[in-house]
Amino acid sequence: VIIDLHRHMWSVFERYSVVADIAARSGVAGHTHFTAPAEDVEGRVAEIRGEMERAGVDRSCLILGDYGLRIGEGDRTIEEENALQTDLARADERFIAFAGVDPRRDDAAALCRASLEAGARGIKLHPGAGFSPSDPCCRPLYELAGEYSVPVAIHTGPTAAPLISTYSSPLEVDEPAADYPDVDFILLHAGQRAWFQLALDLAWWKPNIYLELSLWQTLLLEDEAGFMSRLREIKGAIGLDRVLFGSDCPGISKIMDLTAWVEVFRALPESTARHGFEVSAGEVEEMLGGTAARLLGVEG
Ligand SMILES: [Zn+2]
Repeated sequence: VIIDLHRHMWSVFERYSVVADIAARSGVAGHTHFTAPAEDVEGRVAEIRGEMERAGVDRSCLILGDYGLRIGEGDRTIEEENALQTDLARADERFIAFAGVDPRRDDAAALCRASLEAGARGIKLHPGAGFSPSDPCCRPLYELAGEYSVPVAIHTGPTAAPLISTYSSPLEVDEPAADYPDVDFILLHAGQRAWFQLALDLAWWKPNIYLELSLWQTLLLEDEAGFMSRLREIKGAIGLDRVLFGSDCPGISKIMDLTAWVEVFRALPESTARHGFEVSAGEVEEMLGGTAARLLGVEG
């Protein structure tokens, strides 16, 4: 089974036009190829299903970032965005919703609970909106994660303006991971290049920390040897059964499409041999979906 732990209905550039404008002037102009407004739900869902079928992805987690307090509200309210995802996941088991809410909102816990009641199987936090995962305002959400036995997925690594990078260090997740040892914390993007070593060290110390590898497509394209050596370090330090496959589509689809990204993982037994270490077919299965199925409590 292949589970894409990290994808979006729409990229942030599609949901907030201000982001697209700023990104067009920054280093991520390549991400701004989607210009259609995020209106046509059925059309987009059909596109996603097609993309998943071509790539052999069985299930996709719909990860929802709430950026409204940082950059102004999007076209839909955050309640509507959450409901849209849980409605879709209820209608089609190929989709798994993650509740997304900025913990500083007055009704954050209520909104998160409503989403979990509606079937969401995880919680997503994006500190790029301007809060630390260590801030006490997040604690009601961690308590909900414990109550509903769902993982908390947190963006890590530097990010484009108008979002900020300050609180996206994996270190900000250390305190909640210590205080909520029964809650699983997923470091989305595994800290990216800047904070990968920190992410790995934290995961070494804390068994409830998992590493998700979306956006590593760019690392692979820019520096294949660097990609391989990081994978080798993970294997040596914590093993590959706490590594989760994710794509971050559609924002990254033009840089590497989903089919090619799945292929990279499938080919690891051969490609890692060329880089002097070994990843077994069984370890690939775990990364592509086995571990995610256990974390999410879905059939593997
Ligand atoms: Zn993402």
